Amino acid sequence: MVDETLVVVDRRLKAYDFGPNHPLAPIRVMLTYDNIESHSLLDAEHVTTAEMAEDFDEHLIRSVHTDEYIEAVNTAGAADGHAMPGFGLASLDVPVFEGMHQASVNVCAATFAATRAVARADAMHGLNLAGGLHHAMPARASGFCVYNDIAVSISWLLSQGIERIAYIDVDAHHGDGVEAIFWDDPRVMTISIHESGKTLFPGTGHVSDIGGPNAKGFAVNIPLPAGVDDAAWLRAFEGVVPVLLDDFKPQIIFSQHGCDSHRDDPLTHMNLTIDGQRASYRLIHEWAHTFALGKWIAVGGGGYALFDVVPKIWTHLAAIATHQEEKVSFTEDANVEYARFDDGWDPNNEIDRCIMATRRAIFPHHGLIADPSAAF
Ligand SMILES: [Zn+2]
Ligand SMILES: [Zn+2]
Repeated sequence: MVDETLVVVDRRLKAYDFGPNHPLAPIRVMLTYDNIESHSLLDAEHVTTAEMAEDFDEHLIRSVHTDEYIEAVNTAGAADGHAMPGFGLASLDVPVFEGMHQASVNVCAATFAATRAVARADAMHGLNLAGGLHHAMPARASGFCVYNDIAVSISWLLSQGIERIAYIDVDAHHGDGVEAIFWDDPRVMTISIHESGKTLFPGTGHVSDIGGPNAKGFAVNIPLPAGVDDAAWLRAFEGVVPVLLDDFKPQIIFSQHGCDSHRDDPLTHMNLTIDGQRASYRLIHEWAHTFALGKWIAVGGGGYALFDVVPKIWTHLAAIATHQEEKVSFTEDANVEYARFDDGWDPNNEIDRCIMATRRAIFPHHGLIADPSAAF
């Protein structure tokens, strides 16, 4: 029972579609489904395939989004709809399409299916690759995101009495929506590692943004310079996150796996490979077992190299989440070895200065020592 993984596979989710010229194309998820099936990842006895939760209660969306905004999405997406100003709709990033409300609800229902399975211990890991709309704000669409499926599911977990949830966001863009929604809530530690807002949308996610007055140190940002490669990215990730997880002791880890940090991604400026991204997914999986009794919910996110990157790396994610890594071999033959930050750091190194900046901003709020060399 406990080793089971629930994977959401629901081709109706392709209805979340802003049209043929929009970068967030649903084909990236459909091609991943094809890969997952052709690698027989769903055939194992311990893997359950599920569709979106048919009994998903739309009212859960109101725990995150305002009534006015939901009404605006509904109105805009009606057959003869028009977009009211002020809600981020009908923009270049979030154009309106017919059925927009229902398609966006369905993304929430799919992430909810994975979340509920893990919360109820029907599965140890839950995966919804069609989810991960981390930019959506309570009263505003943003960055290709209408409803924040992540925040909706996390809010539900909180309503069920879960007291400590770690949210880890490896998308190249700052996970600003999720951070904003739980900004002042110490039950949710949001951790976002991303390309610096100096060079990339949405321009936020600074080291000094650490959470509201009741939750200082529970919003964690690791902004990295454009061009960062596998080894530097992994050094930063491993140099900040596990220490915090060990201290926070999450009951559940919820991760967002936007894969637009890849070197071929057309919208960002990072330099990771499939091998580096796979290494980061392995770390998150390992941390779920080490720090959260294996309770892990994973969703997709951004990723705009639709054919050469997304379907491959997310198939790796499905393989990791279903404990069948041996079945998937996509590689770019990159060396992903890196030196651990805790073994020593260099104040003249740009990445090390980034890592230290985050540690100095966050660690003291948890009684942790920021400078590893000071521990000896
Ligand atoms: Zn992104
Ligand atoms: Zn596992």
